[in-house]
Amino acid sequence: MNREARPVDDSPVTHPTHKTGWIEVICGPMFSGKTEELIRRLRRAQIARLRVAIFKPKIDNRFSEDRVVSHSDVSLPSVAVSSSAEILERASVAHVLGIDEAQFFDADLVNVCKELANRGVRVIVAGLDQDYRTVPFEPIPHLLAEAEYITKTLAICVRCGAPANRTYRLSEESERVVVGASDRYEARCRSCYIKPKE
Ligand SMILES: [Zn+2]
Repeated sequence: MNREARPVDDSPVTHPTHKTGWIEVICGPMFSGKTEELIRRLRRAQIARLRVAIFKPKIDNRFSEDRVVSHSDVSLPSVAVSSSAEILERASVAHVLGIDEAQFFDADLVNVCKELANRGVRVIVAGLDQDYRTVPFEPIPHLLAEAEYITKTLAICVRCGAPANRTYRLSEESERVVVGASDRYEARCRSCYIKPKE
């Protein structure tokens, strides 16, 4: 089997002598382990002695300003940036570049990821594929179209225990972006999810 055809999880990750990189997207609802999976892949790259960089949007400071932290409290040092262009500026010598909470970035994130992959970087993007109304959350849908590898993570529905692909907002705000965790959101399956009023 050639290395491009291997499942992502067992990929030997990228290497400085390889010319092309690629894009991996990890997406799903809240509480589905996206950040944990991102951290797991980045840790494996570190074990392979590759230079790893991790970025997250400045908007997301739920747990830490300078670390990517999963709900289960696994973490890695990260750089908080205010635009996708800043990722390109600060990517420098990374072989493997992780981007968490990608749904909070601007639409140009797609071009930034393409540019990095073309330069030979393995880009791993994690984010919500739907907002709390189940509307596709840009720029993730575009990244899915562009990516070589896609992993959909499912949470567990808090109502019935089925696999859950939706994020239900418990609070009343109607803005698309309201940063929060289990205080504001829960994972629900297709049948337990109730669409919020317009
Ligand atoms: Zn359910």
